[in-house]
Amino acid sequence: MEQLGLTGMPTRLFACTPSRLTTWSDCPRRYRFTYVDRPTPPKGPGWAHNAVGAAAHLALARWWDSSRTPASARALLNDAWSPDGFSDADQAHRWRGYTADMVGRYAETLDPADEPRGVERTVACTTATLAVSGRIDRVDQRGDELVVVDYKTGRSVLTEDDARGSLALALYVLAARRTFRAACSTVELHHLPTGDVVAWEHTEESLARHVGRAEAIAAEIATAQDYPERPSPRCGWCDFVRVCPAGRAASGGPKKPWAGLAEEREPVEDDVA
Ligand code: SF4
Repeated sequence: MEQLGLTGMPTRLFACTPSRLTTWSDCPRRYRFTYVDRPTPPKGPGWAHNAVGAAAHLALARWWDSSRTPASARALLNDAWSPDGFSDADQAHRWRGYTADMVGRYAETLDPADEPRGVERTVACTTATLAVSGRIDRVDQRGDELVVVDYKTGRSVLTEDDARGSLALALYVLAARRTFRAACSTVELHHLPTGDVVAWEHTEESLARHVGRAEAIAAEIATAQDYPERPSPRCGWCDFVRVCPAGRAASGGPKKPWAGLAEEREPVEDDVA
């Protein structure tokens, strides 16, 4: 059992990342596999759609230290590329070209003269019971305010609800405020495949609701007696489905590592955040 604090003693803050909290919300058993069991149970092979996301994120992070052209974005993508999870060399090659075009097109929308306040920046803050840390893809300065920018590479069309409802992005707003000592209320999802940007401006009330939710999740984790499975058809996307009989039964077993690519026409559970 993880401890939040004991009566009559100073409260020890629960150290977490947004990912840790959402993993618990998705499935306590996956939380156990990821954060509690040591050694960590064996995961399946890497996912091709995660390789796409990871390479795109890395290329765009390095772009600000490059010549800041669409061509440099494509070159950085090629350097960052990993063929992990693809069905064969042909598929990996095809997707490298597609992903290079995607980051090149996105780079055309960026102003090379801009200077983000942070790129792949670690931020942190505390609440009454939490010590939250995490890494933001990009923090922009827009006038007197900071904007939290999160890249998305999955095929799903994003809506305002995605930006508004993201626990991670709301906590990043608070962490950006604390880390940079600056005003920040807006979060943006930048969908690289389409170039769409979905934004949400938080209020103090909406941020307080997210903090309340985060603290409630942490309290559940801290008092957990067990870590029940939450089996569903989505378990086929879980890294640990091979060691989880309930998940295997609910999903029919692991998806193919390349099943999350758009051409395979299966819904993807996770995008690289
Ligand atoms: S396979 Fe499903 S039930 Fe099992 S740990 Fe993963 S998400 Fe949870």
